[in-house]
Amino acid sequence: MRKPKIVILGAGYGGLMTATRLQKTVGVNEADIVLINKNDYHYETTWLHEASAGTLHHDRVRYDVRDVIDRHKVEFIQGSVEEIKMDEKRVILENGDIEYDYLVIALGAESETFGIKGLKEYAFSIVNVNSARQIREHIEYQFATYNTEVEKKDERLTIVVGGAGFTGIEFLGELANRVPELCREYDVDYHKVKMICVEAAPMVLPGFDPELVDYAVATLEKKGVEFRIGTAIKEATPEGIIVAKGEDDVEEIKASTVVWAAGVRGNSVIEKSGIEAMRGRVKVQPDLRLPGSEDVFIVGDCSLIINEEINRPYPPTAQIAMQQGEVCARNLAALVRGKSELETFTPDIKGTVCSLGEDDAIGVAFGKKMVGTKASFMKKMIDNRALYMIGGPSMVLKKGKFNIL
Ligand code: FAD
Ligand code: NAD
Repeated sequence: MRKPKIVILGAGYGGLMTATRLQKTVGVNEADIVLINKNDYHYETTWLHEASAGTLHHDRVRYDVRDVIDRHKVEFIQGSVEEIKMDEKRVILENGDIEYDYLVIALGAESETFGIKGLKEYAFSIVNVNSARQIREHIEYQFATYNTEVEKKDERLTIVVGGAGFTGIEFLGELANRVPELCREYDVDYHKVKMICVEAAPMVLPGFDPELVDYAVATLEKKGVEFRIGTAIKEATPEGIIVAKGEDDVEEIKASTVVWAAGVRGNSVIEKSGIEAMRGRVKVQPDLRLPGSEDVFIVGDCSLIINEEINRPYPPTAQIAMQQGEVCARNLAALVRGKSELETFTPDIKGTVCSLGEDDAIGVAFGKKMVGTKASFMKKMIDNRALYMIGGPSMVLKKGKFNIL
């Protein structure tokens, strides 16, 4: 009998979790498993703010996909997915195509610019290793260039971060630690540097615990970050950004670096493939399958799960993507064994910790609020746990964070 072919798209948290759990539970005689990813490496998306600020080298945030898959059980193909032809059960890659019996879409998120003029052209986004490297290099170049010009351009030393969500705040935490190093390295007066965070909502980290938010704002302000709250980015230009506080209060901020961290959407492959979605995110069935489909699963940032208690979607997180990967693997194992009853996915939210640089953080974990070194320790434990869940103890030893205070 022909073995079913399971094809997993994306080697991020959701995809790798699915692949590594499947290789443990499904025998080689039961199914062929294929994992496809754009790069031959996995990156810890949750550490990209560190690589972007330059506080952690980008090689520390990535590892070879083949280090965590069992090559006797999972075939790895490096390739970029362009489209899924659902009616033909075929995935079109940049360099070929592949058929599937079961498909897992785990292609992660992209930056959402909400159609704001100039953002795509003039702002950076923290989305992958390439963009992180580019942001780090760009900022460093501004510092390196500043003293070489006869007419000094102070805007070279202005860095604007759009959005005070978790990504914006975590990036600012790293940046605030990196800037004094850059000033020393390039003989730049620290007082000339501006780090400005522009947030449209009336508060930083909208919806998060106000006491913890106050701690984060005070900490970052002490390190030189200026917050513009209730202020929306309206346009990005080659010179900087245009912001507005209300209808009439429009202002231009001149800045050589603009990092847009104000929104994410699911991967554009979803819409390109004609799959019904809201900003690239598909409201999946309780068993994680695409509505109306028997054989396509969607996990991670391309999926959308409603929190019934508040009737709003859960924010897309690595925590959820990894939990979905485990359930998805169990459901696939059931299907290849001819079972039709599948497990329902329910997120088990253990908490949220937001770093404020490598030595400080805020968070709520297991119902307890924490700040400072305690929260920072917890964040590193969470980071190490993700490595452990996918790559086991050897990956924690290779890539783990042990600079515990
Ligand atoms: P990802 O882990 O991003 O993986 C997607 C994979 O698909 C990547 O390997 C990518 O290369 C690949 N891919 C993309 N397009 C293609 C294509 N066309 N063809 C082939 N391969 C492709 N969440 C938390 O829970 N805790 C945190 O502390 C946290 N911190 C974060 C910090 C930052 C800076 C950011 C940006 C996000 C953070 N998140 C955090 C959110 C979390 O990173 C995402 O929710 C999570 O990565 C989603 O997992 P995923 O498997 O869907 O996608
Ligand atoms: P987000 O959507 O959570 O936050 C974006 C922020 O940008 C919001 O505060 C929003 O009000 C603001 N904004 C939107 N439009 C704006 C505009 N025009 N001008 C100024 N501000 C504007 O996005 P994110 O922070 O990138 O997070 C994405 C996902 O990743 C979330 O689910 C988040 O929970 C998760 N994440 C988690 C962690 C963590 O747990 N430590 C860290 C990073 C990201």
